[in-house]
Amino acid sequence: MLLRNAVLATLDPARVASGDLRVDGGSISDRAPGLAARDDEDVLDLEGALVLPGFVNAHTHLYSALARGMPGPKVPLRSFVEILERVWWRLDRALDEETLRLSALAGAIDAALSGVTLVVDHHASPSAIPGSLDTLQRAVEEVGLRSVLCYEVTDRNGPEGRDLGLEESRRFLASGPTSLTRGMVGAHASFTLSEETMERLGVLVEEADAPFHIHVAEDPADVEDCWHRYGVGLVERLGGHRLLRPSSLLAHGVHLEPAELEEAQDRGAWLIHNPRSNMNNDVGYAPTYAFRRAALGTDGMDGDVLAEARVAYLKLREAGRDDAVPAALRFMTGGHRLATETAWPPVAERRCLPPVAQ
Ligand SMILES: [Zn+2]
Repeated sequence: MLLRNAVLATLDPARVASGDLRVDGGSISDRAPGLAARDDEDVLDLEGALVLPGFVNAHTHLYSALARGMPGPKVPLRSFVEILERVWWRLDRALDEETLRLSALAGAIDAALSGVTLVVDHHASPSAIPGSLDTLQRAVEEVGLRSVLCYEVTDRNGPEGRDLGLEESRRFLASGPTSLTRGMVGAHASFTLSEETMERLGVLVEEADAPFHIHVAEDPADVEDCWHRYGVGLVERLGGHRLLRPSSLLAHGVHLEPAELEEAQDRGAWLIHNPRSNMNNDVGYAPTYAFRRAALGTDGMDGDVLAEARVAYLKLREAGRDDAVPAALRFMTGGHRLATETAWPPVAERRCLPPVAQ
């Protein structure tokens, strides 16, 4: 197919140019002004429409999509842990297969309408664990999006819930990828994970050779719990269980120390920045000056990564950063780099597009 008269925007490098685009077998094969149509080709005149790369939402929770517009608790919530206990852990426990399916459909449609083509999801439905990742997969594939899915392993629902979470992860990874969906190993956060569970997660990650996805230092409570119970920082605890490796996704990192951020990124982990969620939960502003390997997530606020990027930019400006525009753009393109590193290595020819005329 030949797409004519487009305004072609690329993020890396950031530029905008008029031109045509040839799509061949699902890949962009040519990009230039005034491309000649081939005999066997469908031609679509875009009349100046904007064409952008698909965005990546590197950390979200499709299970919370139906919570938009839901009234909050009547009493004020005093801490991050109270927000989890009084809102999200009540909501995820109420999900059954049908509400999960509808939630995933609503979340995936919202993502698609926001220009997102890859959703990295972190799932929890403690009352409906077995098969839940298949339900998510069917819903997201029905909308036509790519996704990387994992089940959130945790000890907060007792040993039975923990074992079901590990088994769901193992089962889904063993079922193999499809053209649109990959699996990874998920875990809630250090403060709801025992040493035994962390060790079993490390074994599963190594056996499956899968990426790992966890909340890290979203709130000071996670940091304090780790020092209090284990006498080490969060990054050291993860590393001790072989969970700090290339393609590990650490969501938030708001309260990690500079040396911990360096070590995590040097070992190949990615930091996922979720500024709107951090503002909403009043957990503080992430040390983004030290985020090198980083991408954006909406953390279930909605599916709109461009809105997340705008807030990321505003927070960078508020923090006094003169380089707020390129820094926010790097978070966006970080999602693409993360995707190619962890789940979708590019086909060789996709790397060899001709440059866009200025
Ligand atoms: Zn999250």
